[in-house]
Parts: sequence; C-alpha cells; structure tokens
Amino acid sequence: MYIAEVDEEARKRTLARAGLNPLVLERGSEVDKRTSDVAAFFKTGELNPDSNVQFGEGGAGTFSDGKLTTGIKDIRCRAVLKEFYTHGADISVTYDAKPHIGTDVLKTVVKNIRNEIISLGGEIRFDSLLKSINTKNNKVVSVTVNGEDIPADCVILSTGHSARDTFKMLKDIGVSMEKKPFSVGVRIEHLQKDINRALYGSFADSPYLGSADYKLSVHLENGRGVYTFCMCPGGEVINSSSENGAIAVNGMSNSKRDGENANSALLVGVLPEDFSGDVLSGLHFQEKIEKAAYSVKNGAVPIDTVGHFVYNGAAKIGKIKPTVKPETVFCDLEDIFPHFVTESLKNGIVEFAKKIEGFDDKDAILTAPETRSSSPVRILRDENGVSNLNGLYPAGEGAGYAGGIMSAAVDGIKTAEKVIDQLGFSRTNQKN
Ligand SMILES: Cc1cc2nc3c(=O)[nH]c(=O)nc-3n(C[C@H](O)[C@H](O)[C@H](O)COP(=O)(O)OP(=O)(O)OC[C@H]3O[C@@H](n4cnc5c(N)ncnc54)[C@H](O)[C@@H]3O)c2cc1C
Repeated sequence: MYIAEVDEEARKRTLARAGLNPLVLERGSEVDKRTSDVAAFFKTGELNPDSNVQFGEGGAGTFSDGKLTTGIKDIRCRAVLKEFYTHGADISVTYDAKPHIGTDVLKTVVKNIRNEIISLGGEIRFDSLLKSINTKNNKVVSVTVNGEDIPADCVILSTGHSARDTFKMLKDIGVSMEKKPFSVGVRIEHLQKDINRALYGSFADSPYLGSADYKLSVHLENGRGVYTFCMCPGGEVINSSSENGAIAVNGMSNSKRDGENANSALLVGVLPEDFSGDVLSGLHFQEKIEKAAYSVKNGAVPIDTVGHFVYNGAAKIGKIKPTVKPETVFCDLEDIFPHFVTESLKNGIVEFAKKIEGFDDKDAILTAPETRSSSPVRILRDENGVSNLNGLYPAGEGAGYAGGIMSAAVDGIKTAEKVIDQLGFSRTNQKN
C-alpha cells in the first residue's frame, strides 16, 4: 500500500467514521464555557472542579503548548498530524520536525473535531461525569451519569491522569490496576532571550529562528533521574489544579510563542518503592504534595528563586517575573516535597547549568508543584485492549498507556480499531 492509502485506512478506523455512533461523555464543559471558567479561576482563584485546565472539551491538552513531539514510533502519528491540520491547525504541523499548535488554535481544532463527530452520527454530552460503571456477570451493562443509567456494553475509559475520583471508583468496583513510576517537581522560568542567547549564540536575534527550546536529562549520584519536560518557549506557567484545596501547575504557549519567559517542567523520577500502601498510593503521594502547596498560603501558588533554593541567597524577585496566576507566595520547597525531591532538583539545576549557560540564573523562578506529568497507575488490559471487566477498554494517559497528546491520540485510535474488530463491521455502517 502507498502511504496515502495507509493514512486513509487509519482515518476510517475511528468510531464515528466506522458508523458506530459513539456517545462521548465529558465531565467538563464545552471549550468556550471552559475557557471562561479557566479565565475566572486565573483571575479570582475560584475553581470549578469539573471545568478547568485538566477537565473539559479537548482534555488536558487544550490549554497547552500543543507540542506534538513524541517518543513513540507508530504510523498512526502521521494520521493524527493530518487530523490536526484538517481540523484547523497550521499545515506546518504535518512537516515540522517539532510540530506545535498553541492554546489559541487548539480551541478551534477541538470544536471542529466535535462538529465532525456529531455530523457522523455521534453524540457528545458535556457536564456529564461518569459516576459509576455497572456490571452483570463481570460484564459492563451500563454507566451512571447525572443520575441516569445509560445502557452500554462497550465503554472506552480515557479519563486522563487527573480523574482521581474515577480511579477510586474503579478500585471500588474491582478493576485491575497496578502502581507505576511517575515524576514530580517544579516549573522553571528563564527569560526567553537568555535561552535564545545560550542556545543560538550570535544568531540569537535572527528573525528566522523561533524561540529556542531545550530538553535535558541527567542521572544523579543519588540514583535519581532528573529531566526537563514539556518545555514551553515564550510561554506561561499555569495553575492547572482540578481539586479544591490542592495545587498543581503546568505550562502553555500560544501559537506564536512570543511571551517574555521560557518555562519547562523540571522533574524527579518517583518509583513505586518510594511510597507504601495500596494501588492508589502513588495518587495519594501526589495529593499530599498538592495539598501541602495549597496550605502554604490558602491557594496562592508557591514559588522560589534558584538563588534562594540552590545558593541560599535572598528570596526576592529579580529580572524574571513569575507568570502564574492569580497569586504567588514565596515558600521553602522543603515544606512541600520529600527531601529526595528537593535534593535532586538542586543537583539537577547545577548539572543543567553545565549544558545551558545561565540555567542556574539566580533570578530563575521555580513554581511548584508539577505533579501531573503522568499517571501514577496503569489499568491492566489484555491483547484485545479489554480490562478484567468485559466491555471496559482503558485507554490513553490516565490508563497508563500514553505520555502526551500524540501518544494518547494514537492509543485512542488503536483502541478504536480493537473495538471495531471485536464488535464487527456488522454492527457498523461504514461512513466516509
Ligand atoms: C497545561 C498542560 C499542558 C500540556 N502540554 C502538553 C504539550 O504541549 N504536549 C503534549 O504532548 N502534552 C501536553 N500535556 C499533556 C497532555 O495534555 C496529555 O498527555 C493528554 O491530554 C492526555 O490525553 P488523554 O486523552 O489520555 O487524557 P485527557 O486529555 O486528560 O482527557 C481526559 C478527559 O476525560 C474527562 N474525564 C475525566 N474523568 C471523567 C469522568 N469520570 N467522566 C467523564 N469525563 C471524564 C476529562 O474532563 C478530560 O477531558 C499538557 C497537559 C497540561 C495539563
């Protein structure tokens, strides 16, 4: 087959195009209402626990840099890039080595995807939290949403890594899960022009080069891995909390990536051996850090400078201004994280300054905590993509099978293919 034919095949093998009339249940709101909820949160600190940076139309990636780089090698990646382009992203996403969309454009893309699903006979219900999955003889028979039991013999569960209430419900109904490694740390902010100078040298002011990005990792003597992740050139750190009384941060950029600061997650690997307890103990480990961050000053976002944290200098804002909203508070990061995390972060910053001049700038801002870089559990599934409950297909990042927009999208397509294969085309009415 030619590549174009392969792409076309991948395009057809999604639920709505295969004529399966999927019902999409989304706990959060449609993207315009969600955008207002997020704007209100950034202004007032008042959180809507079901409509925020993590939850709502488009998922966690909607308020992101929209980086589409991935470590996975799968021919479906090409089909995903094409989908983004045909639904509103710039054509450059189909050929750039490091494609990115930007929060501003992503909002249009997710609306266009929604409209296509509806035009193919699918249905999308917003503000519809999946509260429980009901079974008979170990088989899914219905789901409960807003007090209504909706009959269902096939449920794809792709709730992302922040749906802690859903993980708890899954444990209660006996879905098989296992602990998995994840990472925690901070966002680090520098001036983008300093990063450009460090990486582009004398070409730093060239109008032909976009804002520079970086990716760094080191294995420390204490046995821990420290790495940068999801670097957002010209971006902002955002308050990505989804629960009252807890803080989590992340990063985003608009399509032009023209903000004053560069930010990146700076993370330390955490292993299941670092926390004891049941299968959800990694989730509790994250929660404990997020709650400690919240309690520093009633929801103000904790920050520190590299000058204070690493070099014991004064805790004061210098030339780099924190971008996170609405309010920040200086704090001792030891009050939030276990010691192995802060020790590793300090050593990591010193090591990375050997690779990028100025990485340990004393004015660099550290914003805490970044706890949601990946899921703390994996929901087990067999070679057909099915969990120990017949008819339940765990997929995406929250289920532990993806790490980012691209790999989550590819896992979604693979899961749809398995569903189509198992339900059989007899039940479908191939469209498009
Ligand atoms: C601010 C931010 C920036 C990011 N930047 C990037 C980036 O630039 N590049 C990149 O590759 N990755 C980025 N990521 C990570 C990326 O967004 C995720 O890897 C990806 O979205 C995972 O996709 P998913 O479909 O598995 O889960 P999600 O996108 O999390 O989607 C899960 C959906 O399920 C809904 N849901 C949860 N529970 C329920 C329930 N019980 N009932 C009904 N609905 C429910 C949620 O509301 C959500 O919409 C970023 C994440 C954040 C938060």
